[in-house]
Amino acid sequence: MKPTPLAQTQFLSAQDVATLVTRVGAAATLSRMADYIREDFLRWQDFDKCARVASHSAGGVIELMPISDAKTYAFKYVNGHPKNTQVGLPTVMAFGVLADVATGVPELLSELTLTTALRTAAMSAVAARALARPNSKILALIGNGAQSEFQALAFHHLLGIEEVRLFDTDPAATEKLLSNLAHTALRLIPCNSVAQAVRGADIVTTVTADKTNATILTPDLIEPGMHINGVGGDCPGKTELHADVLRGASVFVEYEPQTRIEGDLQHLPADFAVTELWQVLRGQATGRTHDAQVTLFDSVGFALEDYSALRFMRDAAQELGIGQLVSLIPELANPKDLFCLIRPSAKPVLRSAHTAAQALADLQELALAA
Ligand code: NAD
Repeated sequence: MKPTPLAQTQFLSAQDVATLVTRVGAAATLSRMADYIREDFLRWQDFDKCARVASHSAGGVIELMPISDAKTYAFKYVNGHPKNTQVGLPTVMAFGVLADVATGVPELLSELTLTTALRTAAMSAVAARALARPNSKILALIGNGAQSEFQALAFHHLLGIEEVRLFDTDPAATEKLLSNLAHTALRLIPCNSVAQAVRGADIVTTVTADKTNATILTPDLIEPGMHINGVGGDCPGKTELHADVLRGASVFVEYEPQTRIEGDLQHLPADFAVTELWQVLRGQATGRTHDAQVTLFDSVGFALEDYSALRFMRDAAQELGIGQLVSLIPELANPKDLFCLIRPSAKPVLRSAHTAAQALADLQELALAA
């Protein structure tokens, strides 16, 4: 009988992903991740989708984000705790898994904190490429925390943005961004207010964190033709846009049932019309129709983007030989004899160790056979 493959899992630590992105380059990583996201959004109907499962507490939220197609299952664990930075922790932290639908074997376990910033920025760019005015050059970036540099780079490399106007209630956050992106060709302009940052901008990204219904953007700040990329309003009771900003725009969302609960859209009645972005990407719905139209991407972060990001990380890590195999699942000579692991008298009868390459080849063979 052919031995079953070892159920080993490719593991990417936070350091592995940082190494990977450094070797691939931030621009190429964002570009390739955007391609993976677009590719998966174009086959929207292949996925078994649901809104994420949220566990709310006074200071934040912890969420599980599952999704699968016929071959691969993915989930992300992610939190959002806006006060975390005061105790030295990031607001958003995450990890996730890709698993084989045929057997349930977890194939990849990866950090997703850095990856989430990259995938959110790549998603913003995918949406803006479909919705913003072509030849947009000026971005206003409100909120200069952990996500912000990735947003600036994605708009620079994937849309041709040349100037970024910055505002944060914490001047140290803006200083950090200025220092981190000083080496780029971007013109970076710190501003004293949201109004100053937004005036004359082609695209406005709001990526602030506060567990409150904030009104970072009010209708008087919106100019004809702007594209608004609302990233930080992503939880019940945590929003960034005045309801009239949405009323004055054509609103696009990732997955409508989730955005109705979590997005800035939560302030509007259930019959307020929105368009799911995949329909625009597939040419089944209209995006921007004229230069004066205000478009708004009410981003909350959907599981499919993490599925795409994990797929990219797995492929890039295998290309570069980054990461290691770990045994999350016991390796048993007799799969019905789990008890052997704790049998007092006998030593556990474990399968002899494969090499990493053999184990991966086994998994690929099983996937092909499935
Ligand atoms: P962060 O805490 O590192 O940064 C947030 C920044 O917003 C801070 O510098 C803070 O000073 C600033 N800020 C707060 N209130 C402000 C205001 N009124 N005006 C201007 N600046 C203000 O958080 P982060 O990791 O950068 O995340 C930012 C937001 O993006 C969070 O709300 C997070 O939940 C959200 N997020 C959304 C997605 C998505 O897919 N839509 C993905 C990741 C993060």
